[in-house]
Amino acid sequence: QSTLGSLGKSRAKFISAEERTGVTFDDFAGQEYIKRELQEIVRILKNEEEFQDKGIYCPKGVLLHGPPGTGKTLLAKAIAGEAGLPFFAANGTDFVEMFVGVAASRVKDLFNNARSYSPSIIFIDEIDAIGSKRGGPDIGGGGAEREQGLLQILTELDGFKVSTEQVLVIGATNRLDILDPALLRKGRFDKIIRVGLPSKDGRLAILKVHARNKFFRSQEEMEILLKEIAELTEDFTGAELQNILNEAGILTARKDLDYIGREELLEALKRQKGTFETGQEDSAEVPEELRLRLAYREAAVAVLACYFPEPHRPFVETNINSISSQPNMQYAEASGKVFARKSDYINSIVHACAPRVIEEEMFGIDNLCWISTNATLKASRLAEFLILQTGMTAFGKAFYRNDRDLVPNLAMKLEALRDEYMRYAVEKCSSVLREYHSAVETITDILLEKGQINAEEIWEIYRTAPRVAQPNVSP
Ligand code: ADP
Repeated sequence: QSTLGSLGKSRAKFISAEERTGVTFDDFAGQEYIKRELQEIVRILKNEEEFQDKGIYCPKGVLLHGPPGTGKTLLAKAIAGEAGLPFFAANGTDFVEMFVGVAASRVKDLFNNARSYSPSIIFIDEIDAIGSKRGGPDIGGGGAEREQGLLQILTELDGFKVSTEQVLVIGATNRLDILDPALLRKGRFDKIIRVGLPSKDGRLAILKVHARNKFFRSQEEMEILLKEIAELTEDFTGAELQNILNEAGILTARKDLDYIGREELLEALKRQKGTFETGQEDSAEVPEELRLRLAYREAAVAVLACYFPEPHRPFVETNINSISSQPNMQYAEASGKVFARKSDYINSIVHACAPRVIEEEMFGIDNLCWISTNATLKASRLAEFLILQTGMTAFGKAFYRNDRDLVPNLAMKLEALRDEYMRYAVEKCSSVLREYHSAVETITDILLEKGQINAEEIWEIYRTAPRVAQPNVSP
């Protein structure tokens, strides 16, 4: 009876205003504009009446989207912490059950609870689990149930109007593309904020936040070391940066040292990257086939690097001495002013596809392995960045005016545009690799023989190898 009776109850975790989440905006670093936007919402939440007199209302819903580990949960907690409001934390998957009617009644229960504590905040992480497009493929079953849950969320969002019922709903997802467009309409998730990967300065700021409770020899040494780590961690999330510092702390303790040093940080970084150096002695232990795949991957990446040279960041060498899910290509430090045009972004999407395209070409689509899986992810992240953050596509501009009336069916359009870029990127990448197949083979052979190859040799092969003309591919 007790289990059945509680089935329809929300499983959300509750933190009262007195307990506090203990998190503030100071805990989130990088991407200052996100904080500014959210700080404004907190101000409206806190002085509800004063703002209402001026006709300014708090948005009903804020949707945070971006890759996992970029601090979306942290931001939601910071909003609650700063506003001093009760906080209900749920996960989209909590609502999905095979039993009829359960999802909807759990949603109802959660909102009723939150209303009785209003003003309050509801946080729904992985909102895509319940809020994905209706009528789509029913992955994992429970589709009809999920739809009921989603409808209930829409009803709840539309329902509260009275100011005494103020509940701010914060959703988080890394799949904006599959969300049901109905969720994104005006009066529902009124504010959509992208939480992206941090820039170099952002990474430094995040590292500093997490270095607060760690020991360094001096403030100056800490600055220098963290700067170096920030430079080496392109594409890392806040969560990964935090892990590096924690791991470095553990290594320091294990070695019985008083302060975190360069060696520990670099070791921690390597662990976080999932790279393990095979070293000279045991290189024989790497299976032959894995070496071959690595060599092809590096060769393809090298050929694409010649095809789309980056004057500001020339490559130095590549090798097959370490095994990781990222290409081993080494670049020189970025020099001079970096000036990126739309075509540069598109070319880097094409380049990012190389590991996956070559592996499919050489080993077959049913025979891919993990060393190329990151490539597609990286390429589609770049495409999303181009669409959403640069304003270089017509779509991005409208999106950033936050005027969603201009863009009906936002999520669907985003998805379509991203697919278009990805389709072009894969096609272009295959065409380049076919044209320069002979160069790919030669570089692969050298890698297999010597383990590494430098930029000069790569350029020489690229320039002199016979080419096979390909039909034109244009964006
Ligand atoms: P998400 O919800 O986006 O998956 P989380 O908020 O759970 O990410 O992030 C996990 C942890 O990573 C946070 O608790 C925080 O310690 C750290 N973190 C992530 N992004 C940042 C950031 N921008 N600044 C400081 N810490 C961060």
